[in-house]
Amino acid sequence: MAHFPSSDGRAAWRASVLTLFPEMFPGPLSISLVAQALEAGLWSLDAIQIREFGLGRHKQVDDTPTGGGAGMVLRADVLGPALDHAQTVNPGGPLIYLSPRGEPLTQAIVRELAAGPGVTLLAGRFEGIDERVIAGRGLREISIGDYVLSGGELAAMVLIDAAVRLLPGVLGAADSLTHESFENGLLEYPQYTKPRDWEGQTVPEVLLSGDHKRIAEWRNSEARRLTRERRPDLTTGKKPG
Ligand code: SAM
Repeated sequence: MAHFPSSDGRAAWRASVLTLFPEMFPGPLSISLVAQALEAGLWSLDAIQIREFGLGRHKQVDDTPTGGGAGMVLRADVLGPALDHAQTVNPGGPLIYLSPRGEPLTQAIVRELAAGPGVTLLAGRFEGIDERVIAGRGLREISIGDYVLSGGELAAMVLIDAAVRLLPGVLGAADSLTHESFENGLLEYPQYTKPRDWEGQTVPEVLLSGDHKRIAEWRNSEARRLTRERRPDLTTGKKPG
């Protein structure tokens, strides 16, 4: 098992990932804010090699699908002990299987997970995992979108990145979270910076007015317009397109 940060200490929020490719971690999580938070001990990461729980001399982890079909399926009698071990490393948090069949990951779910003690994430490979593991270990299935990745590792990183930036002390200005897309059921309003004129496009006059009330009203109405145009489902509950 690989543990991050290298200097131990019990972090407040713990992420454990069961994977056949622990060398993918921390990967992109070793950059910028999320990495600084890792080094500061605000969260920790364990990458657990599923193959350590493999069967026999060859540490077999998968087998052919019962009933026939293409590809290989991760075995229940390998994943069961691997998940049990992960729970001893990281007790308390939910067991999550990243899966295209799962409930879509939303900011509300991210908030819920960030508010808890941490997460244990199972990254599938091949055709996926033996169905019995899901009921047998009470796995919550979460999808990061309606497309199929070759493995659950990138999905695990997406979930961890989104959760870690919500942990107390990770972002400098707490305020920067409250106006973000999805935090209030709206997409974020358009943002601008210098220069005032770029290739003939100027920034909206109201933002230069110094009138904070008007600026807030403009931002609110832009957030509503963008949400109406692009993601009406966020306010009506109806799925887009
Ligand atoms: N045969 C599976 C199916 O059709 O649903 C796809 C298996 S996929 C090639 C291998 C692994 O990638 C899955 O077990 C899952 O862990 C992960 N994965 C793929 N797409 C994902 C998604 N959209 N969200 C989360 N995990 C995903």
